Amino acid sequence: MMSIRVAIAGARGKMGAEAVHTVMKHDKMELVAVLDYKEVGKTLADLDMFPASYKVPVFTEMHDLVEATAPDVLVDLTNPHAVYNHTKEALNLNVRPVIGTTGFTDAQLEELSTIAKEKELGCIIAPNFAIGAILMMKFAKEAAKYLPDVEIIEMHHDQKLDAPSGTAVKTAQLIQEVRAQKIQGHPEEKETIKGARGGDFDGMRVHSVRLPGLVAHQQVLFGGDGQLLTIRHDSLNRNSFMSGIAFCVEEVMKMDQLVYGLENII
Ligand code: NAP
Repeated sequence: MMSIRVAIAGARGKMGAEAVHTVMKHDKMELVAVLDYKEVGKTLADLDMFPASYKVPVFTEMHDLVEATAPDVLVDLTNPHAVYNHTKEALNLNVRPVIGTTGFTDAQLEELSTIAKEKELGCIIAPNFAIGAILMMKFAKEAAKYLPDVEIIEMHHDQKLDAPSGTAVKTAQLIQEVRAQKIQGHPEEKETIKGARGGDFDGMRVHSVRLPGLVAHQQVLFGGDGQLLTIRHDSLNRNSFMSGIAFCVEEVMKMDQLVYGLENII
């Protein structure tokens, strides 16, 4: 079988660097290029952080990258400012996106979904690649049918740019599909410090903790009569995301539309 040709955007980042090693080691994949916004050297091997054997060229323009290296898949692990354009450009150049970067707006997701459909191209946007986190979301959705009082506490490292996390938003959306709509807390509650009650998503409260030392953690708390159910997931290191990325790179090759959330394909 021919190997899947992969390009990575964000290869110097914490997630991207792990993804580079994952693709390099994978026997069904070939890392053909990386996309960056600055000229960081001719190949990854020129960067101190990668072994001298990683002779993978760096491009700053998607168009040039695609023309020169013909990737099947673009894996994006950049930031909320760059990812939308990368995804759109990739689709327009017939490259299938596997997107781990979070922070899309609903309108952006809709537009990308339309392009993918028109082009009949697979595209996976996954706010969380960790299987345990997917299960946390599934179980939270199930629990919300019976326990509609729910608050989400997500905790991440303090270099994260978007809040709440894409996973917290996705969890809230899944819960919203089944939960009897209600506004949480006392109707007359007042915040004496702004934001103390967290963000409001359809009456649910979402709290974002940012501290050095954390990786990616989330608790979904359900309260009932005299009882509390907590569903918790912890990503202790970025390895927790890598099997999900490899899975998506293979899956996206078989798909002809955009899927948002790994729970829809596992
Ligand atoms: P990070 O360490 O800051 O890495 C991001 C990298 O992207 C940096 O090296 C950055 O370069 C680079 N970059 C910025 N703009 C770029 C552009 N236009 N083109 C190419 N590269 C660009 O962040 P991270 O912790 O790896 O996280 C990356 C993203 O993945 C975040 O959105 C995060 O929320 C998400 N994430 C997703 C999952 C998941 O399971 N889906 C898990 C963890 C994290 P500079 O450093 O020079 O700015």
